[in-house]
Amino acid sequence: MDSTFDLYEADLHCHTTASDGLLSPTELVQSAAKLGLKGIGITDHDTIQGWEEAEEASLNYQIRILKGIELNTNWEGKEVHILGYEVDSSSNDLIENLKVLRNARKERMLEILDRFKDLGINISVEEVQQFALGESIGRPHIAQVLIERGYVRDIREGFDRFIGRGAPAYVSRYKLTPEEGIRLIRRAHGVAVLAHPGVNRLEDGIPRWVKAGLQGIEVLHSQHNQDDEKRYLEIAEEYHLLTTGGSDFHGEGRKPGVNLGGWGVSLDVIQQILDLAKHN
Ligand code: AMP
Ligand code: ZN
Ligand code: FE
Ligand code: FE
Repeated sequence: MDSTFDLYEADLHCHTTASDGLLSPTELVQSAAKLGLKGIGITDHDTIQGWEEAEEASLNYQIRILKGIELNTNWEGKEVHILGYEVDSSSNDLIENLKVLRNARKERMLEILDRFKDLGINISVEEVQQFALGESIGRPHIAQVLIERGYVRDIREGFDRFIGRGAPAYVSRYKLTPEEGIRLIRRAHGVAVLAHPGVNRLEDGIPRWVKAGLQGIEVLHSQHNQDDEKRYLEIAEEYHLLTTGGSDFHGEGRKPGVNLGGWGVSLDVIQQILDLAKHN
């Protein structure tokens, strides 16, 4: 297949229908293989539900699956996203904590629907669940209902006018702190990586997060510009952190213009992460 953008060997930041991506794990693996990618990281929000299907699908292709999660944590009102690669899926500590986070997502969804009721817009839980095919529900699923019902044209407008921070139906949810998220990942023998720090300019927090066990920084990302790439590459070198990369692919309708494989790393970074995890 022809591609009109630079393609990396491995895209280590992808979402599936297990959380708020549009492609099932199988469809994601198929798409990646068709593009010619040699590896992908499955990093759904607060769930490992997509791993098994992705690994099974990968057996039909020459593609490696890196198992991951993404935790959205809170640092003094700023969102800090932590990727956890190769966490141990049998860790009760991890399983229980992810369950708590997913339940908080459900509670928040109900509160958001209450806000909509106050605004004169009645949305049922079932309507939202029609778009939430996996166990981790999120605001993009609510935005999809708004699109279907004709209240907004696209997901961005849904966030801007209704459910984004500062908008009338915005509701926060329970989150870990970055340190708690990093320690949770490390206790589960995973590799903790700071996701897209350029989005919220998080360099001031990096020293303390390294102390908590951070082992990598996502340098290449669809929302990073060249200055971001340079800055976080330098910081990664200064603190001897692994540099990772990925698109944050959610599907064209969810994150327009964010192409699978358009941001990433060479395949050997997967091996570097596996090697680190082995000793964690
Ligand atoms: P949640 O997990 O429910 O807090 O929702 C966060 C998800 O919504 C992330 O995966 C983002 O990709 C997406 N998101 C956050 N803000 C926006 C925005 N302004 N426009 C579109 N998508 C957004
Ligand atoms: Zn997402
Ligand atoms: Fe993120
Ligand atoms: Fe993400």
